[in-house]
Amino acid sequence: MKLTNRSKVVSDKKMTFGESIYIPAILKGMKITMSHAVKTVFGKGLATISYPEEVRPRVKIWRGEHVLKLDNEGRERCTACGLCAVACPAEAITMTAAERTKEEKDLYREEKYASVYEINMLRCIFCGMCEEACPKSAIYLTDRIVNVEENRGSFIYGKDKLVEKINARIDVSERQSELQKKMMK
Ligand code: SF4
Ligand code: SF4
Repeated sequence: MKLTNRSKVVSDKKMTFGESIYIPAILKGMKITMSHAVKTVFGKGLATISYPEEVRPRVKIWRGEHVLKLDNEGRERCTACGLCAVACPAEAITMTAAERTKEEKDLYREEKYASVYEINMLRCIFCGMCEEACPKSAIYLTDRIVNVEENRGSFIYGKDKLVEKINARIDVSERQSELQKKMMK
């Protein structure tokens, strides 16, 4: 059954002489390359930018570095249920759950919290499945780009990097569904 008209029937016809010597195909490819080179030399339609001085605009729902959100009272929303880790196709998330004590009521919203929460940024494919799976609106991807590091261990982000700072809240409203926005209140 054909679902779209995008598929092409592959032909196994014999190559013509022109096709078998590849020269027309090479010239065609070089024509495209030269047209881009000319555009670049004369400054029209430049395909490159001077990164990092210049940065391309990113859409508001860009999927970059994660944030673990705090609630309005500054308590961590994550309850260490593990659903994000189960949903993660790259198996990039690990965590350790702990019970909240009476004295920790102002730190953690739920009775259970993640004493350790780690995301391996080298494994992550920024698919956003973790934020979709989270029942507590605790994890979101943001428009921040993951920094360059010099060793593999530094790409394992712990709570020190993931939990948002109370005095530097991160607005994720652009990525939230109406239901998630209600849950944040
Ligand atoms: S964005 Fe995707 S790959 Fe990355 S941690 Fe979340 S679920 Fe895993
Ligand atoms: S971030 Fe959300 S889904 Fe992941 S463990 Fe915490 S509450 Fe559960």
